[in-house]
Amino acid sequence: MEAPKIIIAVDGYSSSGKSSMAKALARSLGYNYVDTGAMYRAVTLYAMCHGLIAADGAVDTEVLTAALPRISVTFKRDADGSQHTILNGEDVENEIRGLEVSGHVSDVSAIPAVRHFLVEQQQAFGKEKGIVMDGRDIGTTVFPNAELKIFVDASARTRAERRFKELQAKGVDTTFDEVLANVESRDLIDRTRKESPLRKADDAISLDNSTMTIDEQNRWLIDQYHNVISRLTSK
Ligand code: C5P
Repeated sequence: MEAPKIIIAVDGYSSSGKSSMAKALARSLGYNYVDTGAMYRAVTLYAMCHGLIAADGAVDTEVLTAALPRISVTFKRDADGSQHTILNGEDVENEIRGLEVSGHVSDVSAIPAVRHFLVEQQQAFGKEKGIVMDGRDIGTTVFPNAELKIFVDASARTRAERRFKELQAKGVDTTFDEVLANVESRDLIDRTRKESPLRKADDAISLDNSTMTIDEQNRWLIDQYHNVISRLTSK
């Protein structure tokens, strides 16, 4: 009997490694993968490029809200499996990962209209199930009925170390303290915003991966997936 397709929600703090995990899981299950952080990052880049973020970081919520119908965020997958984020037809994958976007994205994603706009699209992606989606509010708001919910956590320092290494490998000029400050400030804004704050869904399974290898994480995730499938098929 073919396994039923399910929705897998992977939520957690920034740089917790959830995207790599979610991507690897989707690949091994033959599921689609959606990085919702990339969608918020793309809207942030749009706001930056259209002068909607002031020097002090304030976002012009009204103009950005009115511009939302003109913003299209899609994904394109390369033959090697790498995913690219496309903003209004342009590949912005590299730009959205930079520190400037990271510095503004939590403020942009705290805007209720931005969240409603993107959540609707994310829910449409999951219509056919067979999807792994990662973000902050997938198990609580986007798919409260997801069959498998994972909440990934690790200390801010561990996460900043990972992020710093990634940025160094890409040749980005930054310091560890700068990266740690960004991780901590995003955590705070994400946790305390009014609209869909980052929190673990009551029925999510927690994973602290501070001391786990990538292989161990992947095996752990596959085990969680199989547990859900056997529960569903034994009913
Ligand atoms: O996952 P990533 O770190 O790329 O996400 C960037 C930012 O987008 C987060 O810090 C958060 O402010 C926002 N975000 C969100 N809801 C999601 C995904 C990301 O608010 N579902």
